[in-house]
Amino acid sequence: MSTITHKIGNKEFNLDEEKAEAAYEAKKIINGRDTMTFNLLPLKYKWAYEIYKKMKANHWEPEDIPMQRDVQQWKSGDLRDVERWIIKMGIGYFSAAEGIVGDNIIHVVREMVTAPELKLVLGRHAHEENIHADSLLYMISSLGINPHECEAMFEQIETIRRKNEFVTEISKSLRRDLDLTITENKQLLAKNIFVFGQCMEGTQFYGLFGMILSLYRQNKFEGIGQMFRYTLRDESNHIEVFRNLFKDLVEENGDIWTSAFQADLLETMKEAVALEKEFISDCLPVNAVGLCADDFHLYIDYIADRRLEGVGLSTLNPETKNPFPWLAEVIDLEKEQNFFEGKVTDYQKGSSLGITETSAEELLGI
Ligand code: FE
Ligand code: MN
Repeated sequence: MSTITHKIGNKEFNLDEEKAEAAYEAKKIINGRDTMTFNLLPLKYKWAYEIYKKMKANHWEPEDIPMQRDVQQWKSGDLRDVERWIIKMGIGYFSAAEGIVGDNIIHVVREMVTAPELKLVLGRHAHEENIHADSLLYMISSLGINPHECEAMFEQIETIRRKNEFVTEISKSLRRDLDLTITENKQLLAKNIFVFGQCMEGTQFYGLFGMILSLYRQNKFEGIGQMFRYTLRDESNHIEVFRNLFKDLVEENGDIWTSAFQADLLETMKEAVALEKEFISDCLPVNAVGLCADDFHLYIDYIADRRLEGVGLSTLNPETKNPFPWLAEVIDLEKEQNFFEGKVTDYQKGSSLGITETSAEELLGI
């Protein structure tokens, strides 16, 4: 019986070669060996395990972020109405959106993939959506916002309702036993992964990210801005998980990648962009200091194209340049690793894979 050495970071495992090969062969994105025993070895989708480690190293807790200055500002007369409105829209939209993403992971994607390392990273992904939802509760309680008013926004603000409907439709249609040997069903799942990773988390989150971080850059809502910086760093990993998942799914199932399917995805991204632009206009009914709706529209075009490129699709607006080059600077978290007096960075040391933190360019999807 011959053995092989399987390495993960600095860990080594001696595996029976025949058994390891059989286990590796049986691992597939979909329609692989179905198991409840979480047999991670040998790793096939190494990216999944690596991103899982990176996500854990980035762990943060909302209550570690001071909110006193935000509360002072919120109560002071120095703010413009539009600035308060952006924060309310941010809390209102994300309160719904984080839950929708987590729910889709648990009830759709994690259910349908078969390789254990994919289930591992998706479990962490769902947990991070819980952290994000919890951070919004912290903002609501700190600022003294009426929670019912926030909930009512999901229904009453037409542009939020439509953005939510756009993603929940595709999630609902997959909640049943789907025969994933049929091409159309595989395409439904691939589209779900594309919509959630690239259209929603990858594009429709970025209008508000940009606006809230613009305020942060002007020293407004430092605590909220900080939480959104950490959220954005998490989202960049989520986008990468779903991008890799999508690409490997298509690679293993070539029948998915028809020209009609590619055209459908492009149309879907167009719709996502249109919905986001309408939403941005609702967030920014008037141009505030340093915040211009037209620039945010361009920003969304730019980000959407990076997402399309990422999954091997053609772009919609190849001429568009990033109108916010400063955003890379604002979201560069490496510059202030001691924000939590070592608390968060302590987790970094626990990472045995020597993975570096996500760069600002990666966060922007450049
Ligand atoms: Fe999130
Ligand atoms: Mn996410």
